Amino acid sequence: MKLSHIEHIGIAVKSLETSIKLYEEMLGIKCYAVEEVAEQKVKTAFFKVGDTKIELLESTDPEGPIGKFLERKGEGVHHIAFATEDGLQHTLDALAEKGIQLIDKTPRKGAEGLNIAFLHPKYTGGVLTEICEDPKKA
Ligand code: ZN
Repeated sequence: MKLSHIEHIGIAVKSLETSIKLYEEMLGIKCYAVEEVAEQKVKTAFFKVGDTKIELLESTDPEGPIGKFLERKGEGVHHIAFATEDGLQHTLDALAEKGIQLIDKTPRKGAEGLNIAFLHPKYTGGVLTEICEDPKKA
């Protein structure tokens, strides 16, 4: 298992419109894409800082994962995503062998067409952790 970099940091926000403005002003960089991921019940906005993205997540349904997160914890960091260099399924299998429980035992499609999978926060010190395929190798 070989991770290449932090692919993105997912941040739950109440309003993409408000938060895009905030991040553009705060970081001095432009949002380069907005995308709806219907399956996850979110609308996402992307910023790039080096090889790492900031992914703002606005809920499209109070019953979706981000809707529930906002209800419980309010706005803030939702998850950290690591890119793997040697195959997502291979990495998931390696993690499972170490006793890390997976939310997604097999990869699924995330934003930007990348294959992703989540690990169970109970097994990752309370941090929701995502592994995704390296966009440069996909
Ligand atoms: Zn993510």
